[in-house]
Amino acid sequence: MDHRLGLNEPKASLKLAFTGNLIDPQSETRNEESLPTALADPRIRVLVMSGGHLFMKQSTAGDAAWLTLDDAQALAVDLEQVIFLGNDAAGPVIAAPSGADRDDPPDGFKAVPFRALFVEGLVDPAILGAVAQGASLLAWNANHRFCGRCGSETASRAGGYRRYCEACDREHFPRTDPVAIMLAARQDRCILGRSPHFAEGMYSCLAGFIEPGETIESAVRRETFEESGIRLGTVEYLASQPWPFPYSLMIGCIGEAVSETVDPDTSELEDCRWFSREEVLQMLEERHPDGLKLPPPGAIARFIVEHWARG
Ligand SMILES: [Zn+2]
Repeated sequence: MDHRLGLNEPKASLKLAFTGNLIDPQSETRNEESLPTALADPRIRVLVMSGGHLFMKQSTAGDAAWLTLDDAQALAVDLEQVIFLGNDAAGPVIAAPSGADRDDPPDGFKAVPFRALFVEGLVDPAILGAVAQGASLLAWNANHRFCGRCGSETASRAGGYRRYCEACDREHFPRTDPVAIMLAARQDRCILGRSPHFAEGMYSCLAGFIEPGETIESAVRRETFEESGIRLGTVEYLASQPWPFPYSLMIGCIGEAVSETVDPDTSELEDCRWFSREEVLQMLEERHPDGLKLPPPGAIARFIVEHWARG
């Protein structure tokens, strides 16, 4: 049985984009030999990425995202920068940053934005999950080339799962930034907001980073109050989603609204208001009279809203 699909895994989390990773990251045994061993394995598959895009073969086959070392070379990958993600049933998988031009990729390849991978269903859930793991680790390594303690250059260790500063003998570990994303609701109404950078007509859950010293629940209450002026009572966890932009974990909750007046934070939101269950169903079913809509399937915000709206 795969260790990532335990009996107590909230099934909700498995319906979301980026959650289907089947790679065993070999956390207990990962060492300096892991990456060289993977690179010498003829079964190796490479996920090649650059700036929030995945390089894929032009083919529409389901495995168009799994590239070979030769493909990686054609895409200007620096093998010194690759990350060992682990092994799945078909062998080792690495993630590699590409120096190729995303707007004009080499013949036979295309560069696809991560969001399009799930919105357009271009890869299967296991590959999408591996993309989240690889993208987060590549971004963390790129952002931590120097020691936060002494400022010296750091070096990749354990296939990219640590960075080591020789000058002050310090190890640095990859981070995951927790983000609370929540729906405030009471009876047949819920609160949705709209940020100025959203697609036209789109409304979504409120969300914000969990700050040091907070519980998930207190962050949900604080963010909801700051962004909407609504006070929450009971807060319940629903599902989570790795979100590789660049290395967040979205923690989805529903909170019981215990106040009425919406007072939007206009520095973050251009609108925030109560929506009836009927209006939300119209948005889910793309029949809202004003064309209002929700984030696409696969996004945790839509999942939370749908879970609430359909009871
Ligand atoms: Zn240092």
